[in-house]
Amino acid sequence: MSREQLVVERARRAFQTGMSKPLKFRVHQLKNLHRFITERRKDIADAVNKDLNKTEHSTELFETLGLEGEIDVAVERLAEWAAPRPVEKSLLTILDEVYIQPEPLGVVLIIGAWNYPWAVTLQPLVAAIAAGNAAVVKPSEVSSHSAKVMEELLPLYLDKELYPVVCGGVSETQELLRQRFDHIFYTGNSTVGKLVMEAAARHLTPVTLELGGKSPCYIDKDVDLRVACRRITWGKFVNCGQTCIAPDYILCEPSLQNRVVEGIRQTLLEFYGPDPKSSPDYGRIINQRHFNRVMALLDGYTAALGGQSDSSQRYIAPTVVKDVPPHARLMQEEIFGPLLPIVTVSDIDDAIHFINEREKPLALYVFSSIKKVIKRMLAETTSGGVTVNDVMMHYTLNSLPFGGVGQSGTGRYHGKHSFDQFSHHRACLVKSLGMERVNMPRYPPQNHQKARR
Ligand code: NAD
Repeated sequence: MSREQLVVERARRAFQTGMSKPLKFRVHQLKNLHRFITERRKDIADAVNKDLNKTEHSTELFETLGLEGEIDVAVERLAEWAAPRPVEKSLLTILDEVYIQPEPLGVVLIIGAWNYPWAVTLQPLVAAIAAGNAAVVKPSEVSSHSAKVMEELLPLYLDKELYPVVCGGVSETQELLRQRFDHIFYTGNSTVGKLVMEAAARHLTPVTLELGGKSPCYIDKDVDLRVACRRITWGKFVNCGQTCIAPDYILCEPSLQNRVVEGIRQTLLEFYGPDPKSSPDYGRIINQRHFNRVMALLDGYTAALGGQSDSSQRYIAPTVVKDVPPHARLMQEEIFGPLLPIVTVSDIDDAIHFINEREKPLALYVFSSIKKVIKRMLAETTSGGVTVNDVMMHYTLNSLPFGGVGQSGTGRYHGKHSFDQFSHHRACLVKSLGMERVNMPRYPPQNHQKARR
């Protein structure tokens, strides 16, 4: 029996005891998870710094703050979320109890990605615990320092049988995927997403796939360009562009292009100074493979801004490329790095057509001060989520469901949406044995025969 098989079996046996179900137990585990984050803040920040060269402040802002928020809301609202949800009745069931009962699914598998190694791995765990499941947690091996800290320290705070952490790369993940789970929650690229879905199909296991893609950012000519450029520059270059909902490319009219470049140039100077390489606020590419991948995307282009790199540090300067043709390599795959192509469009119709010709994105951004432009963009396109006149901020609200659509993913999470994602919604109808006369019309013999009697 493999180690992975053993871990899953143990989690299933623990789940079958029913220990994960009482709300008191769930709340206790969630509070322990919160305590883990508070007490081990430094270990977490050091690991992320080693993995991605992020500052402690940035880890707090982009990893632990959101996690703590998710835990707080789950603890506060759990009793309400887990309670039976009464629904409308029909005439035939007017005297019955009719409700939806959220129930745990069983043993779930959470496969995390490396770009925000704590947020994308532990936020689903918060929901899995809140919904009463056992959960096997598989952090990304790519962010190896974070994975190690998670494997070593998390079991000191959570029940080891119910919530084991399994480290490893492709072969360990594939061995896990051969096991039977009741739900699989995967965050990462769509190629592996397809493998996860295939493996899940063998057991008819439902999946949540949090994938990526190319998230467009349309800048209308009627806009405060200074503000737009500041917000876009923040979202694009934070974490060195390695953010699933970063604006992937800009769409704007040709007359705006040089002003956009100038706005980004000024903002980069404000954020990172004249030499981003020496700024403590500017990150690094996670590993050499991704460094080579991002640099290859830039091959053959002249950067309007940036373009410098240093392979020994996996540093790529914040880079903007102008007049990128729609069919260029830069426009074929998700960039996931600090390169920002600008594609010019003739007007809003052209922009909408451009977006709709491509796969449904994870996020969409629109900058405009004209209500009609915003309304048209929202009504005539689709995406997992959208933020208007800013980027990425829809992610921060746990009242909004976060997830993709089409190729950018399936399923959603955050706040109550996470709880629902990790729950089975059982349809419940509870009748009494009385009032049998009400039921007579549905029993044979049918009415015409009854009438003849
Ligand atoms: P990654 O390389 O860490 O892979 C993700 C997970 O898949 C890891 O745990 C890894 O062990 C596992 N894995 C890799 N290859 C595998 C294989 N052949 N078989 C089975 N398991 C395998 O992360 P990544 O894919 O480089 O992550 C970046 C992608 O994730 C981007 O596309 C990004 O947009 C997306 N992403 C999405 C979200 C979201 O919430 N929608 C969040 C973060 C990242």
